[in-house]
Amino acid sequence: MRIAFLGLGHMGLPMALNLVAAGHDVVGFDVFEPARENARSSGLEVAVSGAESVTRADIVITMFQTGRQVLDAYSGVDGQTGLLDAAPAGTLFIECSTIAVDEARQAHALAEAAGHRALDAPVSGGVVGAENATLAFMVGGTAEDFASASPVLEAMGRRIVHCGEAGLGQAAKVCNNMILAVSQIAVAEAFVLGERLGLSHQALFDVASNASGQCWALTTNCPVPGPVPTSPANRDYAPGFAGVLMDKDLGLAEHAIAATGVEARMGLLARELYREYAEGPGAQRDFSGIIETIRSA
Ligand code: NAD
Repeated sequence: MRIAFLGLGHMGLPMALNLVAAGHDVVGFDVFEPARENARSSGLEVAVSGAESVTRADIVITMFQTGRQVLDAYSGVDGQTGLLDAAPAGTLFIECSTIAVDEARQAHALAEAAGHRALDAPVSGGVVGAENATLAFMVGGTAEDFASASPVLEAMGRRIVHCGEAGLGQAAKVCNNMILAVSQIAVAEAFVLGERLGLSHQALFDVASNASGQCWALTTNCPVPGPVPTSPANRDYAPGFAGVLMDKDLGLAEHAIAATGVEARMGLLARELYREYAEGPGAQRDFSGIIETIRSA
C-alpha cells in the first residue's frame, strides 16, 4: 500500500514508522518544520507539502491535534490545495486524531462528496502504544472500508474494533474517556478518604483491587505511590496521560452531552474538575495527579 501520513507528532511519527516496518510505502508530512526534520532523521520519506504527499496515495492517514485542523487540511485554507482535491479518486482517508463526533461526521461527508472513502479511527494507548504498535483503534465507517483498513491498522495496533457508522469511533473514544475521568476521580477521593480514616494505601489497594471497586484507574494508574510501581504517582506524576489531554477529551464529551441532551452529571463534574486541574498544576502532569488537588482542598 502507498500511504500518506500527515501529522508527525508524538503519536504520528512512531505510527508512521511502524507502517514502514510492516513493509508499506509511506510518505509523511507535517506543517511544523522540526517535526519534518525529526521524521527525516528517523528515516521516513517526507514530502514538501500535504498536497504533494497524497498525490499517489492509496490511503491517507491524519493524526493532528484538533478537528479544525482536520477539516482545514481536507478542504484547504489560505489558497492551499486541500488533501481531498489532491488525492486520487477513491482514496481511503483514515482520520486518527481525537476530535468531536460531529467534526468526524463532517470530515466523512467532505471526503465522500469529493469521491473518496473515509473512516474515523481514534486511538487509545498513548505514545508507548504508538511506539510498540499496541494501540487500540475505535473505528467508524462502512464495513467494507473497515475491512480495507484493517491490515494497515493492525500494523500500528493490537485491538481494532469496528464501532459502527461514520463518527461512532469518536463516540466510543469520548464515552470511554468519560468513564476513565470519573473513575480516576472516584479512586483519588477514596484514597484521600482512607487516609483521613487512618487506612493505609496498601490495605485499601489490596481490598479494592480484588473487590467491586476494581478498575484501570486503580490497578494500572494507581494515584498513590507504592501499590503499582509503574503508575505515574511513583515518578511525581510525570505523564502518562497529561491533565491537558484529559481536559481536551472531556471538552469533546461535554460537547456531545450538550448535543444529545443526556443527563451526565458525573461526566460534567469531571469536566469541571479537570479543567481546573489542567489550568493549574495538571498542565503537564498526569491526570491521576488530581489526587493532590483533592487532598489539599
Ligand atoms: P502532537 O501535537 O504531538 O502532533 C500533532 C501534529 O500534527 C503536530 O506536529 C502538528 O504540527 C501536525 N499538524 C497539524 N496540522 C497539520 C496539517 N494540516 N498537516 C500536517 N501536519 C499537521 O499531538 P499528539 O500527541 O501526537 O496527538 C495527536 C492526536 O492524538 C490528538 O488528537 C490527541 O488528542 C490524540 N491522542 C494523543 C495521545 C497521547 O498520548 N499523546 C493518546 C491518544 C490520542
